[in-house]
Amino acid sequence: MIIIQILFIIVVFVGLLVFSAKAEEQKAQAKNAVSSEQVQSMSREEIQRALKRIETKSAPAQKMGAMCYEMAASPENLEYVCPLDGEKTVYSRKSKAYGQAGGVVELRRLLNDLQVLAKGISFSLDERKLCSKCSPSIGDDDRKVSLIIKYGDGRIVQTDGVSSEDIRYLMGFFSDGLSYKTSNDGQLPLKQVDARLKELLGEKRRS
Ligand SMILES: [Zn+2]
Repeated sequence: MIIIQILFIIVVFVGLLVFSAKAEEQKAQAKNAVSSEQVQSMSREEIQRALKRIETKSAPAQKMGAMCYEMAASPENLEYVCPLDGEKTVYSRKSKAYGQAGGVVELRRLLNDLQVLAKGISFSLDERKLCSKCSPSIGDDDRKVSLIIKYGDGRIVQTDGVSSEDIRYLMGFFSDGLSYKTSNDGQLPLKQVDARLKELLGEKRRS
């Protein structure tokens, strides 16, 4: 009987130990995670610190996404509709701006997701160069979408010619801060793209 009582006490004791260790771990995790309020009001120093963290911390493990074997055929011509004036501009597959015009819908969708992650910073797209009415006299080479970031301190950073990948880097930066999600659900370290990330955030002069 006494042995059973002692065993019972031991089991309870071990259980308590495990429980408190878990609680400590959770507390530590909560401390490390960037809270959404922090992201919402990230100052320039905090952004620079987070960029440094990507440089100094070892890159998280890669997770390769599913391979897509069947590529959907892209149409010969695609129609870009300007959100400002409703003007339709047709791009043929031969046009250098075909990719930019074709990717703009995904770009807009991702930008909404990005905005939810970092509310204190304003993100917008300038698509006027894709529209033949807004920009009647520019060549295909210059028909690019620009990303405009407005920070809480009033700084504005513009990057011409952004892709959906660029927005994914930023989404990774404002979520776990060390990796980003690829279009096929893989996970790659931001360390691999850190020069581009700095450029997008306005922390590196373009060469
Ligand atoms: Zn337009």
